Amino acid sequence: MSSYTPMMQQYLAIKEKHPDSILFFRLGDFYEMFFQDAQTASKEIDLTLTARDAGKGNRVPMAGVPHHAAENYIAKLIDKGYTVAICDQVEDPKEAKGVVRREVTRIITPGTILDPGLLRDNENNYLCAVVIVEDQIGIAAMDISTGFFTCTQTTRSDSMESMESELARLNPAEILIPSSQEDRLRPHLQKKDGSWCRITLWHDSYFSKDRAFPLLEKHFPDSVEEYSLIGENQGAAQAAAAVYFYVLDTQKNSLCHITDLEFYETASYMVLDANARRNLELTQTIRDRKKKGSLLWILDRTKTAMGSRLLRNWIEQPLCNANDITQRLDGVEELVNNSLLRSDLQTALSQIFDLERLVGRSACGQANARDLYALASSLHCIPAIQSLLVDTESALLNFWGQQLDGCLELAQQIHLALVEEPPLALKDGGLIRSGYDSQVDRLREAATHGKAWLNQYEADERSRTGIKNLKIGYNRVFGYYLTVTNSYSHLVPSDYQRKQTLTNAERYTTKQLLEYESEILGAEDRLKTMEYDIFCEMRDQANAKAKNILADAETLACIDALCSLADAAVRNRYTRPAINAGMDIRIESGRHPVVEQMLPPGEFVSNDTYIQRDAHPILLLTGPNMAGKSTYMRQTALIVLMAQLGSFVPADYAEIGLVDRIFTRVGAQDDLASGQSTFMVEMNEMAYILQYATPQSLLLLDEVGRGTSTFDGLSIAWAITEHIHNHSQLQCRTLFATHYHELTDLEEILTGVKNYSIAVREIGEQVIFLHKIIEGGADRSYGIQVARLAGIPAPVLTRAKELLFKLEERDEITLKKTRKQSSDEYKHAQIGFFDSESHPVLDELRKVHIEGTTPLEALQLLMEWQRRLVDEGRSQP
Ligand code: ATP
Repeated sequence: MSSYTPMMQQYLAIKEKHPDSILFFRLGDFYEMFFQDAQTASKEIDLTLTARDAGKGNRVPMAGVPHHAAENYIAKLIDKGYTVAICDQVEDPKEAKGVVRREVTRIITPGTILDPGLLRDNENNYLCAVVIVEDQIGIAAMDISTGFFTCTQTTRSDSMESMESELARLNPAEILIPSSQEDRLRPHLQKKDGSWCRITLWHDSYFSKDRAFPLLEKHFPDSVEEYSLIGENQGAAQAAAAVYFYVLDTQKNSLCHITDLEFYETASYMVLDANARRNLELTQTIRDRKKKGSLLWILDRTKTAMGSRLLRNWIEQPLCNANDITQRLDGVEELVNNSLLRSDLQTALSQIFDLERLVGRSACGQANARDLYALASSLHCIPAIQSLLVDTESALLNFWGQQLDGCLELAQQIHLALVEEPPLALKDGGLIRSGYDSQVDRLREAATHGKAWLNQYEADERSRTGIKNLKIGYNRVFGYYLTVTNSYSHLVPSDYQRKQTLTNAERYTTKQLLEYESEILGAEDRLKTMEYDIFCEMRDQANAKAKNILADAETLACIDALCSLADAAVRNRYTRPAINAGMDIRIESGRHPVVEQMLPPGEFVSNDTYIQRDAHPILLLTGPNMAGKSTYMRQTALIVLMAQLGSFVPADYAEIGLVDRIFTRVGAQDDLASGQSTFMVEMNEMAYILQYATPQSLLLLDEVGRGTSTFDGLSIAWAITEHIHNHSQLQCRTLFATHYHELTDLEEILTGVKNYSIAVREIGEQVIFLHKIIEGGADRSYGIQVARLAGIPAPVLTRAKELLFKLEERDEITLKKTRKQSSDEYKHAQIGFFDSESHPVLDELRKVHIEGTTPLEALQLLMEWQRRLVDEGRSQP
C-alpha cells in the first residue's frame, strides 16, 4: 500500500469498506473508477479504459465520467444490477492540508434511488425486506423517494404464498433478506414478469428483535403502539427495522421525511397473485409490458404524479371492505355528477408538482432551488382546492378538504426568498431574490456594481468636503484610497484616516471605504456562500414541515385518483356498481373496459353475467375459437375488480358480492427458465388454485387440460370441475371456458354447473362471430374456419376437414364408451368411499349400485348424500 500515492491510498482505504459497490471517486470535475471497478464500468457502460500512475510507476486501470453527467452513467449501472458508492470531497481543496478529505456520501442501490432521472413518475420504487419469524413472514416496503413506509405480516397458514402475492403487488426494485434465511426465501422471490428481484443479503442482526424494537420505538413510537409492532405484529416490525437500517446506512442521512410507518392486514385487500395480475393486464399488457392496453391505461386520467402512483396502487390492491368501497364510490359519484367541480379540481391539480418526491429529495439533501420553488408553487395551489371541497357531500371529499394544511407560511417564505427560475447549481449564486436579505443585496451590489458605487462615493465625498479634485484610487498594497492634493488639505474632514504621504498629495481612507473594500474584494465569493446558506435554511424549513407536506401530498393524490376514476367513468359511460357482502354477481350489459376501447365505437357487444353462488356457481363456457370467451371472462373479473377498487364499471347495471381473491388460469405458456413444460405450468397453476381458493373467490379457468392428450385433458378438466363443485371449501364462483364440448354434459350431472356458449352465424363456409353469450353449450369449435381467417393455405384446410370428419366419427364411438366407463368408475369410487358409513341415502346408493343404475342417477343420489353431510355439520369427503 505504501508504494501508492497518498491519494491512491485514500482511494483504497475507502474502497475496502465498499467492496460490493462500484466506487465513484471524485477527482476535480470527474468521478473516477479504478482497478476492477474501472474495467467493469468500461465494459458495462462503454467508458474508455485508461490507466493512471498510482505511485512508483505503478499504472492502474482507470475510467471516469464528468461529475455533471454522472447521473446517466449511474442509472445505467443500477439498471444492470450494480450498486454505486459516491465518494465526494468533503473539504474545500483550498483549505486542505495534503490530500483533500473524501468520504462516501451516498450509496445508490436499485431500492434507494432518488434522482428523478432514474425513477418512473407514475410508479413507486420499493425497497422491501422479508424475514421469517417463527411460522410467519414479516414484509416491509419503503419508497425512499416519496417517504412511504409500510409493513405487514402473513397469516400462519399460507405464509410463503401470501408473501409471494404481496411481493407481486409491490414489485420491489430490491429485497433485503437475512443472510441465514437465503436458502428458504430465495426460491420465492420471483417477480411478476418472471424475472428475479434484486436480492441483497443483509446481516441477520439488522432483522433481530434486539435491534428492531428500540429503533422503531425511537423513530415510530405511535406506530409501535397503534399496530402492536412489538407485540403480535413483530414479524412486520423486524422487516421494517431492517429496511430503515439499510436506508440509514446507504443514505448517510437523517431521513426526516420518513415520519410514518403504516401497518396493514393483507385480509383487508383482495389478493391477486402474480398470474392474476399478469393475465388481467392490470398495469401492463402481457405481450409487450406496456401501460397502453392495460386497465391502468383506461382509468389513469390523473393530473399529478402522486395521483397516478396512488391510482396504480388502488388497482393493484382492490378493497374487501364494503364500507370503504362505498365511500370511494360516493366520491366518484359526486365528481361524476358535478362536472364543474371535477374540472376545477383537475385544473388546480394539474399545477401541482410531485410533492412527495420533492420532499424526499429535500430530506436527503438532494433538492435544488428549482425543486424548492416548485414545492412552494404547488403548496400555493392548495387553498383553491380546499375551497372547492368545502361544500362537497361525499364524506371522503369533504374530509380531505378539511385535512389539507397547505403550509402556506413556508410556501410564502420560499417564494419571497428564491428567484422564479433559479439555476440548477447551488453554489454559484443567483438563487436569492433582490430585496429578501439586505446583506445579500449589498454583496450583490458590491460584486456587480462595485465600480459604480465607487464613482458615486467619490462624487458624494467631493460635495460633502468641497474637495473638488478628490479622487478614489486603488493599488494592491494599500487597497482603495482617497487622494487629496496639498492645496485642499485644509478641507480634509476629521473622519479621514491618513494612509500614505506623497510629494504633493496625501492618501486617506474612511471607515466606509474600508468596509466597502472588503465587501468588493471578496463580495462574489461571499455572495455565493450566503445565497447557498439561505437556500439551506429554506430547505431545512421545508424538511421541518416534511410530515405536513407529505400528508397533503397523500390527500391530493387521493383527490386526484377519485377525479381520475370519475373522468374515466364519464368518458366511457360507466355506471355505479352496487356492492354487497353476498356471494352473487349480476352484471347487465357488461363490457370489457380495454377491448371496447380498442374496437371502433359501437362494435363491442355487451353481455350479461349472472353467477348465483348458491344455485350455479360454475358457468361453463363453450363456443368457437375467436368468439370472445376469454374477453368475456376477463371482463367479468375486471368489472368485479373495478368495483372493489371504488370505480364505476363498464356495464348498464352491476351488483357485486365481494370477492376475496381472483384466480386466473389462462392459456398455455412454457416456463423454460425454471425447467417446466407447458403442461406442468398449467397443472402447477391449477394445483395452486385448488389449494388456495376459498368459497368467496372468483376463478377464471380459460382452458384446462389442453397441454396433454385429449382424453387425459378432458378427464382432468372434468374432475377439476367436479372438485370445485363438490368441495365445501371451494364451491367458488367460476367461469370455465373450454373447447372440450363433452364437459357440457356436467350441467346434467352437477346442479351448480350452467352452460353458456357464444353465438355464431354460419353462412356457407363462413362463420360470423356474434360475440353474444347465450344459454346452453356449443358442440363445435370452428377451428378450421378460424384457421382460414388466419391465412392457412387452402390445401391444408381441405385436408384438415377430411381428417376432422374421420376423427369425429371415430371419437364419437370411443367417447361414448369412455364417458360411460368413467361415470361408472366414479360411482364405484364414491360408493366405496362410504363403505363404513350407514345412512338411509347411502343404503339407497348401495342398493342402486348393486342393482345397477345410470351414472346420472347414482351421482344425483351421491350429491344428495353430500348435502346432507353438510347440513349435519360433518366434513365432506
Ligand atoms: P380462443 O378460444 O381462440 O382463445 P376466445 O373465444 O377466447 O378465442 P377472445 O380472445 O376472447 O376469443 O376474442 C377474440 C377477439 O374477438 C377479441 O380480440 C376481440 O377483438 C373480439 N371480441 C371478443 N369479444 C367481443 C365482444 N363482446 N364484442 C366485440 N368483439 C369482441
